[in-house]
Amino acid sequence: MAAPLVRILSKTCRQISRPWGVCQAGWRSRSTSSAADMVSEQSGAMGISFPPLQTFSEEESMMREAVKKYAQERIAPFVSKMDENSAMDEEVLKSLFEQGLMGIEIDPEYGGTGSTFFSSILVIEELAKVDPSVSVLCDIQNTLINTLISNLGTPAQKEQYLTRLSTDMIGSFCLSEAESGSDAFALKTRADKHKDYYIINGSKMWISNAEHAGVFLVMANVDPSAGYRGITCFIVDGDTEGLEICKKENKLGLRASSTCPLNFDNVKVPEKNILGQIGHGYKYAIGMLNEGRIGIAAQMLGLAQGCFDHAIPYTRQRVQFGKRIFDFQGMQHQIAHVATQIEAARLLTYNAARLKEAGRPFIKEACMAKYFAAEVATLTTSKCIEWMGGVGFTKDYPIEKYYRDCKIGTIYEGTTNIQLSTMAKFIDKEYDH
Ligand SMILES: Cc1cc2nc3c(=O)[nH]c(=O)nc-3n(C[C@H](O)[C@H](O)[C@H](O)COP(=O)(O)OP(=O)(O)OC[C@H]3O[C@@H](n4cnc5c(N)ncnc54)[C@H](O)[C@@H]3O)c2cc1C
Repeated sequence: MAAPLVRILSKTCRQISRPWGVCQAGWRSRSTSSAADMVSEQSGAMGISFPPLQTFSEEESMMREAVKKYAQERIAPFVSKMDENSAMDEEVLKSLFEQGLMGIEIDPEYGGTGSTFFSSILVIEELAKVDPSVSVLCDIQNTLINTLISNLGTPAQKEQYLTRLSTDMIGSFCLSEAESGSDAFALKTRADKHKDYYIINGSKMWISNAEHAGVFLVMANVDPSAGYRGITCFIVDGDTEGLEICKKENKLGLRASSTCPLNFDNVKVPEKNILGQIGHGYKYAIGMLNEGRIGIAAQMLGLAQGCFDHAIPYTRQRVQFGKRIFDFQGMQHQIAHVATQIEAARLLTYNAARLKEAGRPFIKEACMAKYFAAEVATLTTSKCIEWMGGVGFTKDYPIEKYYRDCKIGTIYEGTTNIQLSTMAKFIDKEYDH
């Protein structure tokens, strides 16, 4: 069994110099060096004011490299089989926890890795290069579930759930319903109060990772007369009576990631399992999805890069008309164009993540990153199939899978139209006088 990343990184930290003061206590804590610290020190040393956006702290670089290696060794061998069988391999799931990748930002007090949002983004990107299904599993756990509980949980909730989420339990985020997708706050699932508990009735659709989840964060309305202001977030244990996880969807892509409808039939949830405040669920959902979109941008970015990395070597080796197909100008211009698009998606994604981490406004930029990265993933995967000709269209190469997997980027955590509408609202406001 490979050593967990946490341990690899702690060991490495002890062996190397610490220009930015990272890893003073083994693995980092949030109070040690951030990319911002590093940027200012590095800028001074290099005599420049603004270092490139693709500047990583020491720990970010190490995490990125370690996840790259882990994904190649422990995930890549299973990707094709998992896609074929529409099932996540249990060993892959186990190894994600062993590597500390399911609790990246969770405080080490609760068994987490104690790293940063930006590190999560790099991890999501690296995993998506190899398998976007594994990437979304890690993405939802880290950017939605863990963050919600870390930010809003009572000490008891954190103790009970964060310790499990970082070590062996998957969480699902349950907002969408059959009748409420983009219009998420029209949800109909109800939670009625009785003494010190609530009874939840209703259903949810499209719930990622539900097949393996041990806990569900469920948005339900406690007071439909108040409209969306009645929406409240409940922590529902997977084994609660009346909660049914229905047959998973048979999807175009992301086939190894389970997506299931859920039924709630008189599901009894204690009052102490309300996450945050009653009636604030809509705010939490909006807030989390704003951040989560940066994760989906990273997933789409990694997917595009992973696909490109498979296709380019082929174009450099395949010979037609007596030369490498890479050498035809018609090919080179397309390849250079796609490489530029991927680079632009990377900059948008990293910029949104850095803005979020710096506590600056980031919503418009997150929408831009998610919208653009999904477009770039669509373009890249389509072009890669063309560049590889007939073999790109077969399952002998992974390109067709990336092509199927990328489509979801324009749909979940807000469709492309919804991203564009949100951006337009910001743009409109910017021109108010
Ligand atoms: C694989 C997968 C995983 C998912 N995982 C989760 C999950 O874990 N948890 C969860 O809660 N949900 C999840 N979802 C649900 C996902 O977030 C919704 O599918 C998405 O929000 C779109 O909703 P919808 O499918 O109902 O489409 P609709 O809202 O019906 O949209 C259909 C079309 O109409 C357009 N449209 C709708 N309203 C507007 C508007 N105002 N302006 C312009 N165009 C508009 C949309 O852009 C889209 O093109 C998942 C979905 C999928 C497919």
